[in-house]
Amino acid sequence: MIADRSGFSKVKRVVVKVGTSQLTDDKNMVVPERVKRIAAQLAELHKNGTEVLLVTSGAVGLGLGIIGASEYPKTLSERQALAAMGQSRLMHMYEVSFAKFGLRIGQVILTAQDIHTRERYINVRNTFLKLLEYKAIPIVNENDTVSVEEIKFGDNDTLSANVALCADADLLIILTDTDGLFDKNPKLHKDAKRIASVRKIDASLEALATGTDKVTAIGGMTTKLHAARIAAQAGIGMVIACGYDDNIIPDVLAGKDKGTYFVPSARGLSLKKRWFAHTRKKKGAIVIDDGCRDALVKKGRSILPVGVRDVKGSFEKGDSITVLDLSGSVIGVGLSNYSAKEATQYAGQKFKDEIIHRDNFVRSYNES
Ligand code: GLU
Repeated sequence: MIADRSGFSKVKRVVVKVGTSQLTDDKNMVVPERVKRIAAQLAELHKNGTEVLLVTSGAVGLGLGIIGASEYPKTLSERQALAAMGQSRLMHMYEVSFAKFGLRIGQVILTAQDIHTRERYINVRNTFLKLLEYKAIPIVNENDTVSVEEIKFGDNDTLSANVALCADADLLIILTDTDGLFDKNPKLHKDAKRIASVRKIDASLEALATGTDKVTAIGGMTTKLHAARIAAQAGIGMVIACGYDDNIIPDVLAGKDKGTYFVPSARGLSLKKRWFAHTRKKKGAIVIDDGCRDALVKKGRSILPVGVRDVKGSFEKGDSITVLDLSGSVIGVGLSNYSAKEATQYAGQKFKDEIIHRDNFVRSYNES
C-alpha cells in the first residue's frame, strides 16, 4: 500500500488506462503521434524496470472513424461490428508504435463472463503475469464484439480497476482530458481548483463528478470514482491525470504533484475477495434484519438464515450476492452457500448453516 506520492518510486507494476479521446481526432481517426507518445512513455517505464499493463478504449470510436460516421451506434450489432474493425486498427497502431521502442505487446480482450469463475480469474491473472515475464505489455480492452449487457464490464474505467486488482498492480493511472478531479467543473469555472489527493470518496466528492459529453466515451468522472473506490478498497492507489500532457506517466511516477491521487486503504483485500466482491457480477441480494447486521458489522459474524428477511434475484450456490439492510443500504458482498430458492426457503429459520461465511464477505466501501 502506498500512502503518498513520495512512495511512487516503489511502484513495480502499474496499470495505465487510456480513453478514446486521447487517441483520436474529432473525426474519430487515430492520431499516430498520440499513440506514439503513449508508447514512448511506457517504454521509458519499461527501461527503468517498471512493469506496465495498458487498458485502452478506442475500438468503437476507431470503428466509427473507419466507416466515416460520427454518431454513437444505436444497435448492438452496429457497435459489435464497429468494435471488430476498430479493435484491429487499434492493435495495429499499438503494435507499430511499441515496435519503434523495441517493445512487445499482447492483446487481452475480456468480458466479465471470462472471469466469473475463480478458475478463469486465476487463468487471466496467470496470462498477465506470463506476458510481463515475457517482457510484453498486455494491452487490454473489453471484448466489445461479443459482449452484451449481461456480461459486460460496461466501461473501461471499471475494467482498468479490475485489471489492477487481478494483476496485483501497485498503482492505477487513468488518463483523461482534465488534470484530475476539481472542486468545481473546470470547463465552467475559471477558479476551479484541482484536488491533489483524496482519502475518502464520499457523497460530497461524488457530487463533483459528472458524466461525459463525448460521443465515444462511456463514463466521465462518475465511472472514474467508481474505479477509484474498487482500487482503494483493494489496497491499490489510483491517479486521474491529463492524457494530453506529453510526459504525464513518468511525471506521475516520479511523484510530481499532477492529477488527483486516491489514497488506498491500508488493509487491502486478498485475491479471492477482490474477485468475488469487485470483479464478478452480483447475481442477486439478501436483505438482513438489524440484529444480523450488527452481528456481521460489529462482531464480524457470519450471516445465518435466521437473520434473512428477503431474497432478491436468482442466484446459485457459490454466486456473489449483495447484502442489504432493511433500509436498502448495501452493507457488502458475499459468496452464497445457498441458491436463491434455498435461501428463500430457509429465510428466518434457526438451526441452518450460514448463508454467507464471515471469511467470504467484504463490506462495502462506504461502510469500511
Ligand atoms: N471498450 C470501449 C471501446 O473500446 C470503450 C469503453 C469506455 O470507453 O469506457 O470502444
